[in-house]
Amino acid sequence: MAEPIIVAKRIHKTYRTGEVEVHALRGVDLEIRAGEMVAIMGPSGCGKTTLINCLSGLDQIDSGEALIEGTALHKMKDKVRTTYRAQRMGFVFQTYNLLPVISAVENVEMPMLVSGVRPKDARRRALDALGQVGLADRAHHRPAELSGGQRQRVTIARALVNNPAIVWADEPTGNLDSQTADDVLALMQRLNREQGQTFVIVTHDAKIGELCDRVVRMRDGEIVDSGNGDWGLVTGDREAEAPPDAESPIPNHQSPVTIP
Ligand code: ADP
Ligand code: MG
Repeated sequence: MAEPIIVAKRIHKTYRTGEVEVHALRGVDLEIRAGEMVAIMGPSGCGKTTLINCLSGLDQIDSGEALIEGTALHKMKDKVRTTYRAQRMGFVFQTYNLLPVISAVENVEMPMLVSGVRPKDARRRALDALGQVGLADRAHHRPAELSGGQRQRVTIARALVNNPAIVWADEPTGNLDSQTADDVLALMQRLNREQGQTFVIVTHDAKIGELCDRVVRMRDGEIVDSGNGDWGLVTGDREAEAPPDAESPIPNHQSPVTIP
């Protein structure tokens, strides 16, 4: 069974704004294996965004440990972390916007240019990625000239173009109509299955939860359900540890993906 690609150990994070303190993460433990597609669900304000920001190194943790591919991002120097993120991670965040003054293909090139890919290769791969998300004919349009769904697909192309190990998505379908949301979701699922990328998707949408390998549930800064059932840990082999007559606790569990 694959080693966990993401490991969180007793992570705490408190935001201080003036006199006000919010203890946003209260000792979070979590393990996610390479190739898993995991949904993180829970009420608004429970710490979902904080968790993926902390795990992906966009935000600092106060204590505990966050390991990605065995490495503690919060201990890296800023520049090393930025390059690591561009090479190994993709982000589909509503707040992680496209740059408005450059074209779709230039937006998609960005993470490759940051990680040192030659401009000519970056352009070719960016055009390929836009083709994969069905936007070949929109490559030279600016974000303002695209619909919400098309912009979100550009974001996904940008997140996936560098063949990252992990894709973080925060409410990736939140601003989309239901048809476009379905398309975007199908695309992410296809890429997870075909390319074996690990997806961590924060969502309110139960439909997304059903499509994922498992659903991690949070409440008040804690994980209240790891989605692994209550008999075993994610580090073990969940099939092997399941009692023989247990119903599968993992809805719509997909066959294992092949990691190229
Ligand atoms: P969710 O994504 O589950 O809706 P968040 O992780 O965004 O929740 O927020 C968790 C808690 O931390 C909330 O109470 C929120 O108000 C607070 N919080 C989030 N970001 C900040 C910030 N930058 N400064 C202060 N408080 C914050
Ligand atoms: Mg959020």
